Amino acid sequence: MSAQTALLRNVSLGERPKMRLGTYFIQTWGCQMNEEDTEQMGLYLEGIGFKPAANILEAQVILLNTCSVRKKPEDKAFSLLGELVPLRTSKDLILGVCGCMAQARADEIRRRAPHVDFVLGTGDLGLLPGLVQEAAQKRKFQKRVSLPERKGNVVEDVPQRHLGRPAKVKSFVPIQYGCDKFCTFCIVPTTRGRERSRPTADILEEVRVLAEAGTREVTLLGQTVNSYGKNLLEGKVPFSTLLWQLSEIPDLKRIRYTSPYPRDFKADLIETIRDCPKVMEHCHLPIQSGDDEMLKEMHRLYSVDSYLEIIDELRREIPGVGLTTDVIVGFPGETDEQFLNTMRLMERVRFDGAYMFAYSIRPGTPAGDRKDQVPEIIKKNRLAQLIDLQNRITCEINAKMIGATLEVLVEGPSAKDPSVMQGYSREWKMVHFKASPERIGRLAQVRVTDSRVWGLSAELI
Ligand code: SF4
Repeated sequence: MSAQTALLRNVSLGERPKMRLGTYFIQTWGCQMNEEDTEQMGLYLEGIGFKPAANILEAQVILLNTCSVRKKPEDKAFSLLGELVPLRTSKDLILGVCGCMAQARADEIRRRAPHVDFVLGTGDLGLLPGLVQEAAQKRKFQKRVSLPERKGNVVEDVPQRHLGRPAKVKSFVPIQYGCDKFCTFCIVPTTRGRERSRPTADILEEVRVLAEAGTREVTLLGQTVNSYGKNLLEGKVPFSTLLWQLSEIPDLKRIRYTSPYPRDFKADLIETIRDCPKVMEHCHLPIQSGDDEMLKEMHRLYSVDSYLEIIDELRREIPGVGLTTDVIVGFPGETDEQFLNTMRLMERVRFDGAYMFAYSIRPGTPAGDRKDQVPEIIKKNRLAQLIDLQNRITCEINAKMIGATLEVLVEGPSAKDPSVMQGYSREWKMVHFKASPERIGRLAQVRVTDSRVWGLSAELI
């Protein structure tokens, strides 16, 4: 449960802070792409005079930016919608649902939450100001959920994304939207549409402006980010070329990207990670399963062997490269033996970390319709085994780093102790160390003094 929902539940109507007209609050679930959309929606609202609210209870405009990748964030969104019913005593409140759930389940939202003013799909963010203004004048449910698509050389109606963005040490920059891979468990191609790349010039300009404003590290976002550059009007631009072009921006120190797709991970990208000093030596390469049959059923377009070839090549060319992955257990039909193949793969690769999930049924996907769903108890059990294994491996890898010297980008104070700064190493290790706030936004050399499963403690050199 989010802090906001807990707050809402614990505050009686009489005690609620007064709504402030002209303010907005966006509750976000899901991936960095959603975080980026939230930022963009905030800019749109500020463009028509709204200001951020201190909390959800004070906001005149409440937007839920939703995620459909798993069932849990959808349940949370419906739960928060239920909790917002009492706020409808104010006729001024405007309530909208955006993001992937709005795209995929607009009619269900309308049925289950009739107090919602509008649902806005992922391809229509630019319509937000008009929807809010209309909702303020007349209470009539509105649905805008056209599937996102390329319009000339303008992708997502946001050719000028960088305008008005606040300066941050680290910024996310979407470079590609949608997906053409159609994994059988995934709703993204339905909610985000077909793969579209942003024009290279727009990306370079956005990153240049961000770097001049103080951003030192960008993370390039795309569902299959390394397939960037197809179908651009200016012709194909390989992802590795984009990385080299970005590396020429003087104030930018670091470049990351997420998530690459294994089949499209070619030699030129490995060479770029090896040779381009601003591209970090970390690769988050989703495997999803360590069993070939499961990969086929998931419609993942690679085999375990071809995946391992990439891993081996990365380790050969870039010693010490950080490797992380995504894994799903309990995909429909997964046998004990197939699950054990995933465990074996994890032992074989020894990732630095992994995002591990039990398969969650997504209505409207081929896997969601299958009759051979794995019982919840088995999924939970497999997930627990996998997490135990990965935690052990991560602890062992991190312990071996004690004494190592790392370069860290200082992001800011840790939540627990303001005198302790935190940041990530080039290999994507979270590091904590004592330092003064003047170091924020700068690179620091640190020596690792201790290790945990979540990261490393260190001292400044
Ligand atoms: S590659 Fe597969 S999992 Fe990733 S967004 Fe595309 S369809 Fe979904």
